[in-house]
Amino acid sequence: MRYNGLNVIWQGLVGNTGWKPAWRTPVPKSAYDAIIIGGGGHGLSTAYYLAKNHGLNNIAVLEKGYLGGGNVGRNTTIVRANYFLPGNQEFYSHSLKLWEGLEAELNYNVMHSQRGLVNLFHSDGQRDAFVRRGNAMAAQGDDAVLLDREGVRELLPYLDYDQARFPIHGGLLHPRGGTARHDAVAWGYARAADRRGVDLIQNCEVTGIDIEAGRVTGVQTTQGPIRAPKVGMVVAGRSGQVAAMAGMRLPVESHVLQAFVTEGLKPVIDHVISFGMGHFYISQSDKGGLVFGGDLDFYASYAARGNLPMVEHVMEAGMTLMPMIGRAKVLRSWGGIMDMTPDGSPIIDRTHVEGLFVDCGWNYGGFKAVPASGWCMAHLMATGEPHPVARRFRLNRFATGDLLDEEGTGSQHNLH
Ligand SMILES: Cc1cc2nc3c(=O)[nH]c(=O)nc-3n(C[C@H](O)[C@H](O)[C@H](O)COP(=O)(O)OP(=O)(O)OC[C@H]3O[C@@H](n4cnc5c(N)ncnc54)[C@H](O)[C@@H]3O)c2cc1C
Repeated sequence: MRYNGLNVIWQGLVGNTGWKPAWRTPVPKSAYDAIIIGGGGHGLSTAYYLAKNHGLNNIAVLEKGYLGGGNVGRNTTIVRANYFLPGNQEFYSHSLKLWEGLEAELNYNVMHSQRGLVNLFHSDGQRDAFVRRGNAMAAQGDDAVLLDREGVRELLPYLDYDQARFPIHGGLLHPRGGTARHDAVAWGYARAADRRGVDLIQNCEVTGIDIEAGRVTGVQTTQGPIRAPKVGMVVAGRSGQVAAMAGMRLPVESHVLQAFVTEGLKPVIDHVISFGMGHFYISQSDKGGLVFGGDLDFYASYAARGNLPMVEHVMEAGMTLMPMIGRAKVLRSWGGIMDMTPDGSPIIDRTHVEGLFVDCGWNYGGFKAVPASGWCMAHLMATGEPHPVARRFRLNRFATGDLLDEEGTGSQHNLH
């Protein structure tokens, strides 16, 4: 069933009785040409592009819970292409271009909203760093506009410009940056993959990876064994655990990141804002809630909820930047499990096991990467070769020292 305006009107007239389920609920087959472990954004987009770009239709996505129940449905939805380092730049630039055509591609309203992202700076040194970043973005073909203090004030008049500790000196505006509705992205890819014949198997946890003579032959699951000559591990915060089933120790630590949403308010924030002197970022959802977040909880954990010290830290940063936020009531908060690498950049690569591939290390920036990650992981699984825009995301960089440290914070997982 295609979604379109006429269909919506027609369904309104017939009491919405004609909508079909967005995807099937298939019984797993005993064998597939390829298996994707993990039904998050990256797993679903990998399956979709394997089917669409490479003609592989005998594929299953195995999800231990429900589709979209992981980080893809838990993030603060910021989509941007404002990276500085070659290796990251071309990848995120490619991803943003895919975002820009995604709704037509999937025939699904993912509510991609390019409302503009402003990264604030608060010192001369920070301004210089953002000038360099803006030039790098422009050289890559993306958009960046340097704003002085008055330029920022025109866009965001409600910020506190004059506080003595962190006065706002200006900002780097990325007009094509913005947000999307997180779980709609999972649903859109799921529905589009299903239409191309991909089996989406929910409540199917992978408990083992079968390897014979150095080749992957299939997986063990809670719904029985399934054979496949190609398996992709795309499980975000659980990457270390799943890779361990193949005898691997990934350079990944899992950390908690929290997000917060207030009650619905009239439209007040029509950009995405990132505070340069505290880890704090905020936007307003279409329902009116202010959606914001900050730093990791500073310790490794598999808990999908956070702790009070970080709640206090994030609220303090919010109050510092825009004191008016103190009037809003926080309705909900939650946590997600972040797959943090030592250099803050991801991994899309083959492994030492023939036919076994890994896509992980998205840190807390993997939502915007969903389209390009799936595109590149599908390319790798289908051809055996890394896609040109993901050529730096190799596993061996942690052995050779050819790191991709975007933030320049050094090899500590929780600092990126
Ligand atoms: C609070 C928060 C804010 C964030 N903000 C942003 C942001 O603003 N912008 C941005 O770009 N990124 C952001 N991120 C990061 C982004 O959400 C993640 O990097 C990205 O979603 C991870 O990829 P995924 O969608 O595939 O993960 P997930 O949705 O977590 O998918 C992995 C799936 O694998 C499944 N799985 C695990 N183990 C197994 C198993 N053994 N068998 C079968 N299935 C298994 C899990 O159940 C899960 O559904 C944020 C994350 C959080 C938590």
